[in-house]
Amino acid sequence: MYLKLSRGRCAALAQIVLTAAVISCAVNANDAATMVREQIESRGIKNPAVLQSLRNTPRHLFVPAQVRALAYTDQPLPIGYGATISQPYIVALMTQLLEPSKELTVLEIGTGSGYQAAVLSPLVKYVYTIEIVPELARSAKAILQKLGYKNISVRAGDGYKGWPEKAPFDRIVLTAAPPEIPRVLIDQLRPGGRLVAPVGENVQDLVVIDKSQDGKISRRSVIPVRFVPMVKGTEAGN
Ligand code: SAH
Repeated sequence: MYLKLSRGRCAALAQIVLTAAVISCAVNANDAATMVREQIESRGIKNPAVLQSLRNTPRHLFVPAQVRALAYTDQPLPIGYGATISQPYIVALMTQLLEPSKELTVLEIGTGSGYQAAVLSPLVKYVYTIEIVPELARSAKAILQKLGYKNISVRAGDGYKGWPEKAPFDRIVLTAAPPEIPRVLIDQLRPGGRLVAPVGENVQDLVVIDKSQDGKISRRSVIPVRFVPMVKGTEAGN
């Protein structure tokens, strides 16, 4: 059985559906703007390009339907497979600490939902991102493609190996926490480059590593954070 609708009714129905879609988009844009104002600017993030990218990135499309209503709230959210999308403020802070600019190439370890990569995309030249859970790599790739991001490559694999074929990188960001910064990743950082990572077990420090032009490493801690651990891959799985 199906409903018979007159042309007029059909048009009216289409109008309602369209209006609902427009309203829901507007609400989400509004949510992102409110999130930036109340959670991010208020905590001292100032880089205007970073703030703009956070306003423009549809966080609700990177989280599972069950938690979509919470997408713009001040917390990390589960995205399956034991992974979480980081709290918006932490994404903002790490992005600002990376001092992004248009000529830079970035390596991210821990693609998860793809949100951090999407936030970085308009701020840099290219983002390479590695995710150890193949299903997450696949879904992140799908949403990034659907939304039209052109300067992001997602690879399923073990971040402890980095991405040697594309190294060196101007910036490296880890969104899973290793007990110590893997030497391989420091080696894949270009002289003059910067790496930002949560480091440690249970409670971690958000650490900024700078590599000088002559290869010297300096390190400072910014704040305590809590990320999922960076797990070791198995040879068979990678
Ligand atoms: N940046 C993500 C948040 C990621 S949560 C976002 O914006 O949504 C951390 C992610 O790191 C998880 O998806 C986890 O599976 C992944 N991960 C853990 N160990 C890893 C490793 N050795 N290599 C690559 N990814 C890893």
